[in-house]
Amino acid sequence: MNLNFTAEEEAFRSEVLDFLRERLPQRIASKVRNGQHLTRDDMAQWHAILNEKGWLANHWPKEYGGPGWSAVQKFIFENECAIAAAPRIVPFGVNMLGPVLIKYGNEAQKRHWLPRILDGSDWWCQGYSEPGAGSDLAAVRTAAVRQGDHYVVNGQKTWTTLGHYANMIFCLVRTATDVRKQEGISFLLIDMNTPGIEVRPIITLDGEHEVNEVFFTDVRVPVDNLVGEENKGWTYAKYLLTYERTNIAGVGFSVAALARLKLAAQKVTRNGKPLAQDPQFAARLAKVEIDLENMKTTNLRVIAAVAGGGVPGAESSMLKIRGTEIRQEISSLLRRAMGPYAAPFIEEALQEGFDGEPVGPEEAASAAALYFNNRKLSIFGGSNEIQKNIISKMILGL
Ligand SMILES: Cc1cc2nc3c(=O)[nH]c(=O)nc-3n(C[C@H](O)[C@H](O)[C@H](O)COP(=O)(O)OP(=O)(O)OC[C@H]3O[C@@H](n4cnc5c(N)ncnc54)[C@H](O)[C@@H]3O)c2cc1C
Repeated sequence: MNLNFTAEEEAFRSEVLDFLRERLPQRIASKVRNGQHLTRDDMAQWHAILNEKGWLANHWPKEYGGPGWSAVQKFIFENECAIAAAPRIVPFGVNMLGPVLIKYGNEAQKRHWLPRILDGSDWWCQGYSEPGAGSDLAAVRTAAVRQGDHYVVNGQKTWTTLGHYANMIFCLVRTATDVRKQEGISFLLIDMNTPGIEVRPIITLDGEHEVNEVFFTDVRVPVDNLVGEENKGWTYAKYLLTYERTNIAGVGFSVAALARLKLAAQKVTRNGKPLAQDPQFAARLAKVEIDLENMKTTNLRVIAAVAGGGVPGAESSMLKIRGTEIRQEISSLLRRAMGPYAAPFIEEALQEGFDGEPVGPEEAASAAALYFNNRKLSIFGGSNEIQKNIISKMILGL
């Protein structure tokens, strides 16, 4: 197994770096770097720039508009983007629904929906979780009852990320109740503008409106919007989740955040010395850096295995756990480094163009908000406890 990049892969990295230098809008990168809120337009602008280059749907096969990259190229691209403070690609259409449609959608669905994901005509959100169906996802109760050439949908989804921006939602719905719960689920595409849909905001601890509740009352959905076969949705749902989990590891985000943390720890002083020289702080900093280096190697090991024809299994759960723990530890250390300066929650500091009086180091303004926001990492995409269950089943056979 060779964990070094080849000359071609290094040339590819240079190409990515040139592209980021030329095309990543610095206004947006600065917001990402400072932990400020991105607007819908910011995200859509970055998607459009990537799409123009043919790099938006980097997991898709060439025939559907993907660049035809290897696993290593995707790894390089995602890491360099994160290090350059590019916004993350909004995953719901490109990274989640796209691969499901490519594998399980019919020709008409592929022809209609895939180009619209690429050119931004549709903004998708994910309607999996419900109150009472999170970790136990197969317990979804939102019901879709067939009436002629429509399904009539009633129920509720929750934690729907960016649902307030979306015009489309892909949902797990219950189409049968007299079978094992996994066997009565279907995968339905629903237009958010259909009468009977209501989106209500959930405001999180950091004051952000990122997630929502979505209510369905007698919502009529054409049967053409069913993906694959009725009652086979659980298979498609699980396929989508492995894509979601591998993306959450976020090595590049941790590399960028660690660099920022190290700078901050040099600037901030404790007892007249840079915080980076405080033995306790330095020990935690060193530990997280070592953990990150280890995870990078593990990630490359998984990629090398995939490049050699293997399929990631429990490894995507392993990467999800370690990746999110590392990201949380880095944001926790940044908050600690800022000390009392991280305490005031200055909501305006999270908006573009904040010109208030800086209180303490510039990193302080967003440190607490980032810390709180990153609590979500070990919960979504299947909580870390659930990933541990998966690992124990697949590797230890428990
Ligand atoms: C910020 C954010 C964004 C999200 N975005 C979306 C989205 O866009 N679309 C969507 O569909 N969902 C989304 N989710 C939902 C997410 O997938 C669920 O929160 C997650 O699956 C956990 O489900 P739950 O919240 O119902 O918690 P529960 O399932 O009630 O779990 C509560 C706690 O119990 C633990 N637990 C549960 N079962 C077990 C078990 N068998 N063994 C050990 N421990 C267990 C869990 O690990 C957790 O700590 C989002 C969540 C968050 C926080």
